[in-house]
This record gives sequence, structure tokens and C-alpha cells, in this order.
Amino acid sequence: MCTNILAVAVGAPALFRKDTDDNEVLTYDFPFVTRAQWSARTAKQKLSLQTPIPYVVIHHSYTPPACYDGPTCKKAMRSMQNFHMDDRGWWDIGYNFAVGADGAAYEGRGWDVLGAHALHFNNVSIGICLVGDWSNSLPPTSQLKTAQALIAAGVELGYLKEDYKLVGHRQVRDTECPGDVLFNEIQTWDHYAPFPASADDLPEVEELKKI
Ligand SMILES: [Zn+2]
Repeated sequence: MCTNILAVAVGAPALFRKDTDDNEVLTYDFPFVTRAQWSARTAKQKLSLQTPIPYVVIHHSYTPPACYDGPTCKKAMRSMQNFHMDDRGWWDIGYNFAVGADGAAYEGRGWDVLGAHALHFNNVSIGICLVGDWSNSLPPTSQLKTAQALIAAGVELGYLKEDYKLVGHRQVRDTECPGDVLFNEIQTWDHYAPFPASADDLPEVEELKKI
């Protein structure tokens, strides 16, 4: 989808897409680590998300703890994937993307594959996990900036709705996630939406009624 994205507005994230013989290569203007680069296992199964997607759900990992360099973050990705596939029995790592305290974005299920990160809300959202426990401290600026740049890229690529809504995991499920401090932070971000305020509101979410 969205093959004509080379014309970007000044100030918009610089995204470059070139067609190679057998696949498309995307380059973002922030460090991006593909599944192959973190040695992901193959997903057991996949379902497509209907794009453009109306919601972004922000998570923290709690565990593994924050990772500040590539090797540690790649290891964190593998450990989350192993936990989700082996202990939870899911098809793949649950998140669509993760972002490390090294300032890099890590490819999870990707933009257009249904995730397993927010029960009853996966069909209408992309899940982005900021690796670490952000209950009592704020993620490093580079981690916050990359998460925001990743979301902006999703809009530019047409995967996310231009008027997407951003929520914290605790707004759609009874959980502490994404941690008190990170939850306060994302309430200052563009597109933050206070509704739904809790899982009790989910029956009133219009997008879920259409599925
Ligand atoms: Zn969460």
C-alpha cells in the first residue's frame, strides 16, 4: 500500500522507499532494527490489520528492564518474543513495534499485522512498547522521540489514520501499563485521547462496533 510517498512535506519525517528486485526497503530517519536484525523467530501465523488504523496503544515492558545499547535491546526483543510465544502461546511477539532506551525502534509484528497487546482492542490499534519499567522514571528523550517519530512515519506511510488517537494500555484494560510516569508523559503528546478511560468504555468505542 501507499507506494507514492516520496514527496514529503518540509518538516515531515524523511522517509525513503526504494524498490529492489524482490522487496521494498524502507529507511526511516531514526534507527530502525528489522526482525532479521534482532534474530526474530518466524511468526506461527498472521492476520492482517485493516488499515488505516485508528488507534495507537502505548505500553511499557516492565520486564525486561530498559536496554541502552543494541545488543541488550535485541536480547530484550528475543526474550519478549520467547515469553509471548512459549509461555503465552501467541503467534509472535505481541507488539507491533518496540522502542529501546538506545533510541532505536524495533520491528515487532509490523504495521499491518494484527497484534496481541491489548485484549479486545487489537483489531483497531497498533501496539508500541517502550522497553523498560516507566512507573517511577521517564524514558530517555531519545526513546520518547523515536516513539513519536515512528508514529509520525506510520501516518506518512498511510498505515495510521491522520486523525489517529493515542491511548495508554491502562485505558483499555485493567493494568498499570505503561507505568505512571510514562502515562503522564503521553498525555502531553499530539493525538492523546482520554476516551476510552477504562475497559468499561470499550462497548462505546465506535471503531470496535464496526468490526
Ligand atoms: Zn501494556
